[in-house]
Amino acid sequence: MEAFIYEALPARVVFGRGTLAKLGEEVDRLGLTRIIVLATPQQEDQAAEMSERLGNRSAGTFSGAVMHTPVDVTETALNYVREHRADGLLAIGGGSTTGLSKAISLRTGLPQVVIPTTYAGSEMTPILGETKAGIKTTQRTMAVLPKVVLYDVDLTLSLPPGLSATSGMNAIAHAVEALYARDANPIVSLMAQDGIASLARALPGIVTNPTDPEARSDALYGAFLCGVCLGAVGMALHHKLCHVLGGTFDLPHAETHTIVLPHAVAYNAAAAPSAMGRIAASLGSADAAQGLYDLAGRLGTARALSKIGMPKDSIRQAADLAVLNPYWNPRPLERSAIEELIARAWAGEKPLP
Ligand code: NAD
Repeated sequence: MEAFIYEALPARVVFGRGTLAKLGEEVDRLGLTRIIVLATPQQEDQAAEMSERLGNRSAGTFSGAVMHTPVDVTETALNYVREHRADGLLAIGGGSTTGLSKAISLRTGLPQVVIPTTYAGSEMTPILGETKAGIKTTQRTMAVLPKVVLYDVDLTLSLPPGLSATSGMNAIAHAVEALYARDANPIVSLMAQDGIASLARALPGIVTNPTDPEARSDALYGAFLCGVCLGAVGMALHHKLCHVLGGTFDLPHAETHTIVLPHAVAYNAAAAPSAMGRIAASLGSADAAQGLYDLAGRLGTARALSKIGMPKDSIRQAADLAVLNPYWNPRPLERSAIEELIARAWAGEKPLP
């Protein structure tokens, strides 16, 4: 065994079906008495339901969360939180709602309970991305790590099959890059392999039967593991590319991850052979990149950036931006090879090393 450093993050995780019943117990453990419930406008009803469950511990609901955590939305929410003299936050939803909760917590120190309803994994990370004047900046600080994460499989049954597929692939991307991270370690790698395997097994079943509780349970468990991976070690080329493409061309987050992942993996294949073997084994495929491309095909998700709104004449610009301030990556970034990678992802072609 080679030397390694592993740092566990201090979060309490409650996982299962019907775990919402434990919500009161969990907020009482934290001693919270004036909680603001956060959600997107699409999940306003669920926010109201959480508020009802909290009873007199609820101080109100704010259902204005949107993607990429714009600072002006955070400021509006902050005013609401201060006016209502909140002593805690409850986020119910995907990465967008968790992002708002983290942004408020960063500015107020309020403890957070998060109930995730997608597979994005933000709830397990000390990472916050925020957008101001169209520019997204990301920071890593323990101040945004939720105190309690309550995973209730039943809440994911309503996640539409298409979004389940891309959100699940987004989760897989965290585990894939954790396996070849500069600071990879054997504990996180175990979680990464099991995370990929759980999601790869569950997602095809969810697409055919979105209310299958077994498949939903496996997928949410996989997403939890993948979220831990994202929070524990550094990400590489794939996350950099998605950050650039999503931010510059306003592409949808999970779809972009789904399309780019096989190509980023193919780019890194020769530089990270051991990680590739583990990814392929977790997918039950002979080849990591092809296995990911085939999985997206089975799930029926878009496999071309051209299909999700990226203009063809922006490929060159995307490549320029991708090699600017690069993240560490197992294979050095070569400008022309990166442009070819993006061009293949744009056209929806098979991944090539
Ligand atoms: P999202 O939170 O924007 O959710 C997408 C839509 O689905 C929303 O309208 C939401 O209300 C709805 N939805 C969520 N769960 C549902 C359910 N069970 N049933 C029906 N509808 C449901 O999407 P996301 O992909 O979860 O999150 C993306 C955002 O999270 C991005 O801004 C991304 O940058 C961020 N993110 C951050 C981290 C981190 O560690 N900081 C990690 C992953 C993602």
